[in-house]
Amino acid sequence: MTSLPSLLSMMSQLIATPSISCSQASWDQSNKGVILLLENWLTGLGFQCEIMPLPGQPDKVNLIATIGEGAGGLVLSGHTDTVPYDEDRWQSDPFKLNERDNKLYGLGTCDMKGFFAIVIDTLKNMDLSKLEQPLIILATADEESSMDGARALVKEGRPKARYALIGEPTSLTPIHAHKGIMMEKVRITGQAGHSSNPALGSNALDAMHAVMSELMIYRNGLKQTYRDANFVIDYPTMNFGCIHGGDNPNRICGRCELEFDIRALPGMDNQSLYQEITALLPRIEQNTGTQIELHHLFPDVPSFSTQKESDIIKACERLTQKDAATVAFATEGPFLNQLGMETLILGPGSIDQAHQPNEFMALDQIAPMQHVIKGLVERYCLTPSTENEASRV
Ligand SMILES: [Zn+2]
Repeated sequence: MTSLPSLLSMMSQLIATPSISCSQASWDQSNKGVILLLENWLTGLGFQCEIMPLPGQPDKVNLIATIGEGAGGLVLSGHTDTVPYDEDRWQSDPFKLNERDNKLYGLGTCDMKGFFAIVIDTLKNMDLSKLEQPLIILATADEESSMDGARALVKEGRPKARYALIGEPTSLTPIHAHKGIMMEKVRITGQAGHSSNPALGSNALDAMHAVMSELMIYRNGLKQTYRDANFVIDYPTMNFGCIHGGDNPNRICGRCELEFDIRALPGMDNQSLYQEITALLPRIEQNTGTQIELHHLFPDVPSFSTQKESDIIKACERLTQKDAATVAFATEGPFLNQLGMETLILGPGSIDQAHQPNEFMALDQIAPMQHVIKGLVERYCLTPSTENEASRV
C-alpha cells in the first residue's frame, strides 16, 4: 500500500494552491502548483508523469500521467484551473477546505480539483500492478479561460486511449453531448458627420440595423434546419448580447459594434457558420457605404457528441443507474473526441455550485464517484482488450 495523504488532505492541498485562469491578466495565475501536487501523488502510485508546458506559455502546463501500456485503455481527465472568486461573497476562505453540513466548501471543490483527489484516493486502494491496458490521468491548464491546454493536446496528438471520462460536475449523471459555443463581434465603421445632411456620412447604426435583420433571418433558418431532441432547447441559438455605437442624436453614427453568441448542435460546424455569416456582410457594406468586420471574441468550442451506444456510455449508465443526458455548458469533451477517444462527461458535485461563491461538493457525491472510477478502471484497464471487445458485442 502506497502511503499517500488522505482524500481530504489531498483535496485541501489542491484547494490551497491557487490556479485561477482568466482572460483578465490581473487574475490570471500559473497552474504549476496543482500539477506538481498531482505529479507527486501519481508518481507514488507508479505512474510515469510528463509535464507539458503550453506553447508560448511556460507558466501553464498540462500533465499526462500514464501507467500500463497497450492500444486501448482509459483516460480520466480534468482541468486544474479555477475561475476567479468574489471574496466578499464567500462565507469562508475560498482557499481553505471547510467542511460544514456534510459539504466541502472551497474554490474548485466541485469544478474540479475535488475530482482528482477522488480519482487518486480510489486508485490508491486498487491493485494497479496487473494492468492489461493503460490508465492515463490527464490534467489540463486554462479550461476556464481559453481551453488552450486541451487545444495544445490536440496539436500534439496526445494522449491516446480508447475511452475517456472528464469529471466535470454533472451530479453523477453521464453526459454524452453538449452544444458548441462561438462568441463573435461585428464592427461597423461608417463616416460621422452632421445629422442635418445624411449625405455627409455613412451611418453605422443604419448598417447595424441591416446586419441584425440579416442575422435574425439567418438564425431563423438555422432553427428551421437543425433539431436535436436530446436537448431541452432543441435548436441552435444565437443571442445578441450587447451593442455599442454612436454618441449624439445630431451626429451621424460613425461606428457601431454588436456582440453575439451562437450555440450550435452536434453535427454543425462552427467554421461553416462563421463563413456563412461572413458571406452576408459585403452586400450590406455596399448598400450602406460602411466597412463591416466579423471578429472572434474567443476561440470557439466545438459541439460535443459521443454515440449513446458507446460502451463507456452504457457502462456509466449501469454504474450510476442514470440515463445519459446532455448539458448546457461546454467542456474539453470535443477536443478529447478529436483525439480519437470515446469521451463522456461525468463527475461529482453540481454545476449549480460551480462558478459561484461558496462553491461546495456534497460528501455524498464521493462514494458513488469512486464506484464509477473503480468500475471503469476494472473494465478498461484490468481486463484484456479482447475480452473487453467480446463483451461489447
Ligand atoms: Zn469545469
